[in-house]
Amino acid sequence: MAAANLVEPGTRALIVDTGWFSARMAEIVSRYGAEVVRVEAKVGSAPTADDVAAALARGRFDLVTVTHVDTSTGVRADVEGIARVAKAHGALVVVDGVCAAAAEVLRMQAWDVDVALTASQKAIGAPPGLALLLARPAALARHRARKTKVPSLYLDFAEWLPIMEAYEAQRPS
Ligand SMILES: *Cc1c(COP(=O)(O)O)cnc(C)c1O
Repeated sequence: MAAANLVEPGTRALIVDTGWFSARMAEIVSRYGAEVVRVEAKVGSAPTADDVAAALARGRFDLVTVTHVDTSTGVRADVEGIARVAKAHGALVVVDGVCAAAAEVLRMQAWDVDVALTASQKAIGAPPGLALLLARPAALARHRARKTKVPSLYLDFAEWLPIMEAYEAQRPS
């Protein structure tokens, strides 16, 4: 859903590579048309915020994706530091918290993370099947500024927001 709404052909995405799940995020965003650059680190360690800043300095990026904890390697990324350098560059930050949410601290607002996503079946410890995604205003603004339609109807923020807004306003919808 993060990729479907925030990526369109030509979007440049920087992937903080911590293992299999960040490689999979690279594959997901590239299928939506992103040009992908990876910041790599030795297997078992994570790129630092300085590594990410150096990669950002070599080009223009719209999006930085971070796997908070990469289940394949057990590596935890410095989301706070990486978000800081990404925001200084003007890039949105997407955090895959599928393994981390409920086990690691994520201060989405204080660290200025734009999209955080997780699922029920890892640290939350519930049966699989529920996906949870939070998007902050800059992510919604990026979605509104798209030049192309979100390719998936079901994943389009625009399909969900009217229902959620009506719910919050206690209006039937
Ligand atoms: C398990 C996992 C995923 C994928 O979640 P599925 O619901 O199994 O597709 C993504 N990212 C991380 C970090 C994971 O641990």
